[in-house]
Amino acid sequence: MLQPGDTIGILGGGQLGRMMALAASKIGLKTHIYCPDPNSPAFDVTAFHTCADYEDEAALEAFAKSVKRVTYEFENIPAPTVEFLKSRLPVLPGDNVLRTSQDRLIEKTFFNDIGIPTAGYHDVASQQDLEAGVKALGLPALLKTRRFGYDGKGQVFLKSEEDVRTALDIIGNQPAILEAFVPFEREISVIAARNEQGQIVSYDIAENVHQNQILHTTTVPAAISDSIAAEARAIGEKVADKLNYVGVLAVELFLLPEGHDQRLVANEMAPRVHNSGHWTESACLVSQFEQHIRAVAGWPLGTTKRHSNCVMTNLIGDDIHAQQSHLSEPSTAFHSYGKSETRDGRKMGHINVISPIDAA
Ligand code: AMP
Repeated sequence: MLQPGDTIGILGGGQLGRMMALAASKIGLKTHIYCPDPNSPAFDVTAFHTCADYEDEAALEAFAKSVKRVTYEFENIPAPTVEFLKSRLPVLPGDNVLRTSQDRLIEKTFFNDIGIPTAGYHDVASQQDLEAGVKALGLPALLKTRRFGYDGKGQVFLKSEEDVRTALDIIGNQPAILEAFVPFEREISVIAARNEQGQIVSYDIAENVHQNQILHTTTVPAAISDSIAAEARAIGEKVADKLNYVGVLAVELFLLPEGHDQRLVANEMAPRVHNSGHWTESACLVSQFEQHIRAVAGWPLGTTKRHSNCVMTNLIGDDIHAQQSHLSEPSTAFHSYGKSETRDGRKMGHINVISPIDAA
């Protein structure tokens, strides 16, 4: 268990690392951010940082000596980096989690093995596999690279035989999976947390709307029944339990319309704090960021109770320039990630618009 004033190492210096560092300092812990990008937004808010490649063993050695535990803000950390660090100090969540979540095939297999339904899928290593997959699953379908996909990158939507002929080329002939198309009614997500003592908590279920395959808004509560909400929370908690997880995780789920036997289908998990949990910053006493830091520190988890309804909207690219108007809107919390360069499609900040739940 960490002591107040101890330092947690964080791999990755983007907005998630930044928000974890802010949350850590709020509860009396320090952070050391490790990231190869000299313009990392998290460097602005941390006592210590290292700007070095993930393969730089001298830098990793010094980093490991300066912190008590290591966590991360992204799941695609090179395996040798994790190996190097984990032989020296705890890396949380553990590398079993990274192995599962870095590869869509392993991830889907894991979900199914623990009784969580997913879309039908087929392992694709060749054109022949792809054709067999299309035969088994039908069209439309999605071809996704097994690794390194995010925000819809590394994916092709297949509608026709022509798409089937070109899809593997489009994704660079990488190992892939073919997924059956899920005719979902809504996309929802669950944020759960577990600490090393085995305490597990989850937040209320959020509903997510994407634009151009990037998260646009998250609304809490989701417009779903109590029983579906309970089922979704149980999925998040089960994943945390089965992986002996330490930290915060997100599971993205598809909700199918009434009439389908199976209404909740897991899409993917993120072994970290997640964009669809940013609402917790303004609508809960303990945010997902603080919850993650508490778990990594070996501290008791906090309440996930929601005191407000909330709509989180991502500020993408030029959206950030409306900053002044957000600052004067009532019931709106504005959060900028302090990124020096605005680019199309880049997550620059978010706003949380809250409406307090009547306590009476
Ligand atoms: P992913 O990168 O897997 O999160 O996919 C990005 C987005 O594509 C999801 O949020 C969905 O909107 C859509 N999508 C992904 N997989 C499927 C599927 N099997 N069926 C329908 N839509 C999907």
